[in-house]
Amino acid sequence: MKDLFWHKGMRKKLVTTVKSKGITDINVLHALYALPRHYFMEKAFEEKAYEDKAFPIENGQTISQPYTVAFQTQLLNVKKREKVLEIGTGSGYQAAILSLMGGRVYTIERHRMLHLNAKKLLHAIGLKGIRLFYKDGYKGLPEFAPFDKILVTAAAKEIPQDLLDQLAIGGQLVIPVGDESQTMMRITKKAGGKFHKEQFGKFKFVPFVNGLDN
Ligand code: SAH
Repeated sequence: MKDLFWHKGMRKKLVTTVKSKGITDINVLHALYALPRHYFMEKAFEEKAYEDKAFPIENGQTISQPYTVAFQTQLLNVKKREKVLEIGTGSGYQAAILSLMGGRVYTIERHRMLHLNAKKLLHAIGLKGIRLFYKDGYKGLPEFAPFDKILVTAAAKEIPQDLLDQLAIGGQLVIPVGDESQTMMRITKKAGGKFHKEQFGKFKFVPFVNGLDN
């Protein structure tokens, strides 16, 4: 019990930190407060789980920095019951946040081990509505399209056409684009095949890689 309270206190501090960095969406802040991030991390880093930093997970990947998770989630502006596709399940933390925002979440990972671990964990903590796929995210999930929102959590060299195709009209894609560092972009699909592009500062993600691994 004591342990739980300690973690709650740490989460409160984390919420204060991301708030001070400019996150204002109350639903995002609530989700960050509600979700124990240490569940999603390796034992060795558990004590640091509520620092505002990215940490290594299996397969040379990372669990994103909480501020980055909050920033992307705020940009995506998920409303209740919206269909949301995430590319890059990783630890499953971002997928869980999207689910707590009320989205119907589909998430894709190209590493089998990460996919299986996240699936087990999300079921264990009772977030059963999240659908996880071991697939190449470049292609999206055409069989479940269109999506109201699509979130890419890896650094893309370009914006995959398949993901744009799988957006509903009025739907939005949030994606970090670039090599060394990435520009956070939000693309809104308009009627008549038009897209509206917005840019939101620089971030650093692990690469969006073509094809499956195992
Ligand atoms: N959203 C994750 C962050 C993971 S880092 C979290 O909350 O923990 C980015 C993830 O994208 C990595 O796990 C990486 O394996 C995955 N990835 C990279 N290219 C991909 C692709 N083509 N398809 C699916 N996942 C991919």
